Amino acid sequence: MLRPFLLSLVLLPCLLPSPARAEWQQHQWEVMGTRASVTLWSEQDASPLFAALEAEMSRLNQRLSPWIDDSELATLNRKASKTPQTVSAELYALLEKSRHYFQITEGAFDISFASAGHLYDYREGKAPDDDTLKRATSHIDARNIQLLPDHQVRFTDPGTVIDLGGIAKGYAIDQGIALLQQAGIEQAWLSLGGDSYVLGDHRGRPWGVGIQHPRNRKAIAMRLPLRDTAMSTSGDYQRYFMDNGERIHHIISPQTGKSAGELVSVTVLAEKSVDADALSTSVFVLGREKGLALINRLPNTSVIIIDQQGAVHYSNDLAPGQ
Ligand code: ADP
Ligand code: MG
Repeated sequence: MLRPFLLSLVLLPCLLPSPARAEWQQHQWEVMGTRASVTLWSEQDASPLFAALEAEMSRLNQRLSPWIDDSELATLNRKASKTPQTVSAELYALLEKSRHYFQITEGAFDISFASAGHLYDYREGKAPDDDTLKRATSHIDARNIQLLPDHQVRFTDPGTVIDLGGIAKGYAIDQGIALLQQAGIEQAWLSLGGDSYVLGDHRGRPWGVGIQHPRNRKAIAMRLPLRDTAMSTSGDYQRYFMDNGERIHHIISPQTGKSAGELVSVTVLAEKSVDADALSTSVFVLGREKGLALINRLPNTSVIIIDQQGAVHYSNDLAPGQ
């Protein structure tokens, strides 16, 4: 009696379709001016999925980069103050999202920061002189971006320049995660610069996602246990140069056209990366008090702020002792 039972145990694995591999697979590449990284669990060779992710992010870069001459965004910047432009549903939706964040941040998140922002060259260490900056800053006002019916967009100020750098990477991650889910992936970590999303868990345990130490490249300030969560960090250490002891970095206060100076790192947790991305930039500009108040008003959204003194501040839902 024992024999057939043993036999079936031995045979069973051979009868099931054998997976090519079941393991963590990883891939890294450069896109959108930063490093993309994906780790996922799959029983199949993930190379085709990695290629699909690369293709999707390249497509978005080609559409949304202000630096590629024939991108949809660059074309809009060149033409929208002359005649209304019809844009793709995808770009239009991102402009609507950006308008939403402009409204709920009372102007701190403003994609028209670029009329001033594009005058800085962080790699070369160059900033505009005061007069030039003042003139450019007078063109920052997202109300000059009119979203008309039928996906038409018009700029009412000829000096308007827009840049989706504060929100596009988050959107790209959401697109990437959707692609992985459609392929049946249940556990993955996808990151693009300071933005990431963790899908599912890490074989039964939460993922441990680190917040980079803002003043020590090799150190982690804090590690968070997360699953099915978007996380975005905005820091003054990602793109910057020093000028007479002043740190000139890439997050711009729309009121002054200069770097927002109160905080050094803002990490937002949310359900979608597009929201986490826009909000981390927003809170960085708003500063501690207004930033915490904003996040505490939003459902399923948390923030961890590190200020100039190195003190850490949490939204109410994360505050120790809660
Ligand atoms: P990173 O791009 O390094 O991930 P962030 O998510 O904080 O960092 O976004 C910073 C980017 O957001 C800048 O490089 C710029 O493109 C854009 N940006 C800067 N200031 C603002 C602002 N006030 N409103 C909206 N976008 C901004
Ligand atoms: Mg951002």
